[in-house]
Amino acid sequence: MSEKGIVGVDVGGTNIKAALVVARTIKKRVILPTKTHQGLRSSIAQIQSAIEPFIDKANAIGVGIAGIIDSRHGIVKYSPNLRGWHDVKLVHILKKKFKKPVKILNDVNAICLGEWKYGSAKGYNNVFLFTLGTGVGGAAVCEGKLLFGAHGFAGEFGHTVIKYNGPKCTCGAFGHLERYAGARFIVARARRKMRKENSSLNDYHHITPEIIADEAKRGDSVSKRVFSEIGFYIGIGVANIINLLDPDVVIVSGGISRAGNILFEPVRKTVNDRILGKHNRIFKIIPAKLGDDAGILGAAYFATAYDK
Ligand SMILES: [Zn+2]
Repeated sequence: MSEKGIVGVDVGGTNIKAALVVARTIKKRVILPTKTHQGLRSSIAQIQSAIEPFIDKANAIGVGIAGIIDSRHGIVKYSPNLRGWHDVKLVHILKKKFKKPVKILNDVNAICLGEWKYGSAKGYNNVFLFTLGTGVGGAAVCEGKLLFGAHGFAGEFGHTVIKYNGPKCTCGAFGHLERYAGARFIVARARRKMRKENSSLNDYHHITPEIIADEAKRGDSVSKRVFSEIGFYIGIGVANIINLLDPDVVIVSGGISRAGNILFEPVRKTVNDRILGKHNRIFKIIPAKLGDDAGILGAAYFATAYDK
């Protein structure tokens, strides 16, 4: 009989990605729309449909989901991307349906676990990972343990204050990193500059942070300045994290983590100017390795192997 696997699931605001993970390797996968606009029942039904094809070949289920997740009690307290999700006993619902062990965790914690066990952070005991996308997420491994915090809020890097009198964030508070480094704010920064000077970005109907990164690499001065400015703000945030947690490695995940030096240079320079004891620390700031697979692999790992 062949070895049984684990179903790893990554529930996002748009899509649910699920896969059968056998011996740390993704064997088969499905992607379904989350259907969050149709409400709680529909999105739970979609999660079940994503798990269904693999369940006979699996011993357990691990689900990564955006929001405030009470992993200990298996409850999704709140999810910003999923309409109507408040205090949902997801573990209970999935256990009842599939009769297998189920664990859930925050999606960025799942990505961090995946990169820590199999990717860029492998072998390190103190890790900080952040994701750059629509929002800015974060997660930490401290002394070999994933950090959850008292209420499940640990690692919310996007909502750390980097400018004390800064503009209002999507969460309602002021001066948060996400207000600078969230995708739409990066694009808005580029658009403000494009109004004042020529840029190759004008050739695009729809601009994304990835396009701005590509044009920066081709030498467009507006795009280059956008990246040096957001790299500066991200660097302030990373310097605070390094001063606070003293990680071995800081991992940058998400689409624009592949931007290369155009992003990493201003981040590293800003960090070096702002940390205590830089000559006595050895740390790296590097891109994630596993892309979209990190969340699925991390959720699968959490389902059975993580016992802290
Ligand atoms: Zn915020």
